[in-house]
Amino acid sequence: MKTIRFLGLIILVLFNCNSNPKETNTNETNNSNQYIVVLGIAQDAGFPQINCNKSCCQSYYDGMESKKLVSCLGLIDLESNQKWLFDATPDIIEQTQILKERHLDNNHIIDGIFLTHAHIGHYTGLMYLGLEAMNANKIPVYTMPRMEKYLIDNGPWSQLVKNNNIERVSLDNDSTVIIHNNLKVTPILVPHRDEYSETVGYKIEGKNKSALFIPDIDKWHVWDRNIIDEVKNVDYAFLDASFFKDGELKRDMSKIPHPFTTETTTLFQNESIETKNKIHFIHYNHTNPTIKENHPFKDSIQKLGFRFAKEGMKFFLD
Ligand SMILES: [Zn+2]
Ligand SMILES: [Zn+2]
Ligand SMILES: [Zn+2]
Repeated sequence: MKTIRFLGLIILVLFNCNSNPKETNTNETNNSNQYIVVLGIAQDAGFPQINCNKSCCQSYYDGMESKKLVSCLGLIDLESNQKWLFDATPDIIEQTQILKERHLDNNHIIDGIFLTHAHIGHYTGLMYLGLEAMNANKIPVYTMPRMEKYLIDNGPWSQLVKNNNIERVSLDNDSTVIIHNNLKVTPILVPHRDEYSETVGYKIEGKNKSALFIPDIDKWHVWDRNIIDEVKNVDYAFLDASFFKDGELKRDMSKIPHPFTTETTTLFQNESIETKNKIHFIHYNHTNPTIKENHPFKDSIQKLGFRFAKEGMKFFLD
């Protein structure tokens, strides 16, 4: 009986290894001085999601799936000894610790934070910089005008401004900020439910390579830019994959528009394999089956050439 179980385990391990042969090593580099690391992949509310009793989150409580941190990218430049975050998520404690332990310990918690917009998964991590937490000193926070005004005018964020826990750095749409030699960041406005702030995606340009990060957008066709051209212009594209397909939620999904994964793959179906390979889906809702470590839907999308961002994945820019 024991032998059968053991053999079963070996088969299971081998099967799992073969189902995603490229996933963990894609774009990994050991000799890079300048790279992006994925620090989180879940939609704003994380995984598991509060009050979810469905099988998606039950799989976490049953020990079948690990917790997934909220969508976030880290940017590391070892030459200048600096590191930046793209979005301040509710998981900023773990995410800054991962940066420090596994990537760069430069005696700063972070050298700058670029915010995309004022939805809970993207900025509320700022609260840990304030008086009740680390009482940080002038951490540069890069914001678009409405986002900046929102932080100034509304507590508890206004206290971070008043106490100089954060130092506001103003951004303009499509206007490039040079954060270090060979490292540039450009915010690009995207259509989204802009209740409190505008929403941007970011283009990150390194020494030799570049990336596009759009964790939230309503739909590709309502954008004034062509996503196919934008993906072709970069080396890596981290794109909103909140929902896999229509009908995934019981509520009216047109009220919370996002490009379905299936819509994005259809849009890119006639593009080259090189273009498809650039796309790394991110920002998965708990109901999206591709948030799971392994899922047949994920395998079939990967066979088409698309990829799924996973915590710890590195993408070199030099
Ligand atoms: Zn979001
Ligand atoms: Zn769930
Ligand atoms: Zn949002």
